[in-house]
Amino acid sequence: MISATTSKPPLTVHLCAPRGFCAGVDRAIQIVELALKKFGQPVYVRHEIVHNKYVVDGLKAKGAVFVEELGEIPADHADRPVIFSAHGVPKSVPADAQARNMFFLDATCPLVSKVHKEAEIHFRREREIVLIGHAGHPEVIGTMGQLPEGTVSLIETEADARAFQPKTDQPLAFITQTTLSVDDTAGIVAVLQERFPQIVAPHKEDICYATTNRQEAVKEVAPRVDAMIVVGAPNSSNSQRLREVGERSGCRVSHLIQRASEIDWAAFEGISTLGLTAGASAPETLVEEIIAAFGERYDVTVEIVRTAEETIAFNLPRELRELRDAAE
Ligand code: SF4
Repeated sequence: MISATTSKPPLTVHLCAPRGFCAGVDRAIQIVELALKKFGQPVYVRHEIVHNKYVVDGLKAKGAVFVEELGEIPADHADRPVIFSAHGVPKSVPADAQARNMFFLDATCPLVSKVHKEAEIHFRREREIVLIGHAGHPEVIGTMGQLPEGTVSLIETEADARAFQPKTDQPLAFITQTTLSVDDTAGIVAVLQERFPQIVAPHKEDICYATTNRQEAVKEVAPRVDAMIVVGAPNSSNSQRLREVGERSGCRVSHLIQRASEIDWAAFEGISTLGLTAGASAPETLVEEIIAAFGERYDVTVEIVRTAEETIAFNLPRELRELRDAAE
């Protein structure tokens, strides 16, 4: 007689640290939550406050209404607060809000605002500006929109950098999107610096600390595991980059998923080690959900692999600071 066995195969989950929420995302979500508390429902949010459906759905349930453009806000709600997302907005957006007499709160991450300021400084100093980033991403649209149309040239790849022809004889300067691949960007910058040795670089990296730290942790974990999972949304730039870093660091199976229900179990068959991380806009509860899903099929041991400590926190807008202080 063959006896059925209920024992599960062992699986060690190498859990990257840091992972998940960064200070900019945390601040943006707090801004929406505190605005709802202070001003009541509805509070409008222009674009997904951060690129994560779970977060957005949670805020919708509390009374936030998401729109892509200010024109979608009904005329009889023009007095309701509107919040701009963490990715930043072109200058035309606050100008439009002012013209419509709207009260707005800006949840742009301060590290994105820093890049906006750099762009303005270069412009004032009459430098021609190159932005390294991904076409169509809201952060890129916001950064390019700090200056008159046609002022900033976008470069996405090393091939773009090789083909780039300055439009003017002004000195060149480059800035970058905050959530790029550190390694890809270094390659693009190397091409630009070789072709234009005088090009002015950012004083301090534009790729933010959170992006850099999460990629470093994946580089540490990916070579030692059978498969990697990045928890995050397909439209989240930093999450996509984490998946790529996992693959390039030698991990054959590197998947980006939003929820446990998306796990392609066939791809994870026979593994004994799993690397796990989360993009900067993915909440920890979704990481726990993935671990629990593996726990149903495997005897899971979790090992934390910490490559950096993060202590950064950003101030809230003045209008909401008191409310947060009172809650603490
Ligand atoms: S990923 Fe970086 S730039 Fe984007 S919100 Fe987080 S800290 Fe700010």
